[in-house]
Amino acid sequence: MPELPEVETVRRTLEPRIKNKKIDSVSVYYAPLIKTHTAQEFNQILVGRTVQSIDRIGKYLLFNFEEYTLISHLRMEGKYYIKPLDSTISKHEHLRFNLNDGTCLAYNDVRKFGTFDLKLNTELYQTLPLSKLGLEPFNPAFDEYYLKQKFMHKKQAIKPALLDQTIVLGLGNIYVDEVLFCAKLHPEKKAHTIGLKRLKNIVQCSQVVLHKAIDLGGSSIRTYTDSLGVTGRFQNQLNVHMQLGKPCPLCDTPIMKIKVSGRGTYYCKKCQSKR
Ligand SMILES: [Zn+2]
Repeated sequence: MPELPEVETVRRTLEPRIKNKKIDSVSVYYAPLIKTHTAQEFNQILVGRTVQSIDRIGKYLLFNFEEYTLISHLRMEGKYYIKPLDSTISKHEHLRFNLNDGTCLAYNDVRKFGTFDLKLNTELYQTLPLSKLGLEPFNPAFDEYYLKQKFMHKKQAIKPALLDQTIVLGLGNIYVDEVLFCAKLHPEKKAHTIGLKRLKNIVQCSQVVLHKAIDLGGSSIRTYTDSLGVTGRFQNQLNVHMQLGKPCPLCDTPIMKIKVSGRGTYYCKKCQSKR
């Protein structure tokens, strides 16, 4: 599943290719992906509009069209491709934004879990899905005091608490495992019992882990040709996630796997303390 660094990589790859291009029409092959409008309304609103920029908040891509913003979430398998207008429509292609330069931006999604919300800018942050989001680790307000306040009444483990997008925006299963390894915290430690000093570690580790992943994603952009994918490029750089049985990079103890709140969780039992 794409996480914040992969979505940022998609954003950086797409933006220069479609910025200032105009939408001639939208072809909708699977309308339920569009949460706010019918396929016909969606097309009517977007036709003739120019892509001003692409932003990102957490794992949401925001395509800016003058007074409208299209919010795209890739969920499990969503991918964008830039293709010639006359190319054949592939099996899992559900939307095509036909552009005025002879190309189209095609949205491909094997599992159809991705979402599109088209919003007026005036309602963008007042309505779901953006109204309930927590802070990104890069936000200056994301500090140990913010986490302390958010965790105060959380009797749950730190792992699901960090996965909660109303608290931290953009950390998913892979990066939470990496952040907890970096901060030397056991994934089952109760969130409300963690002191300020260790919360500060979590803040710093979140930034370090995400920066590193974004840098790696950035470096792989050069290998793109005309298609944009977001699969597992960071796996070689992970310390604990998906590393079951491999030696811990710090102490050589084999990495363990457990379930925490139903999510497969990797950690080093020696380095990551429950105390
Ligand atoms: Zn270790």
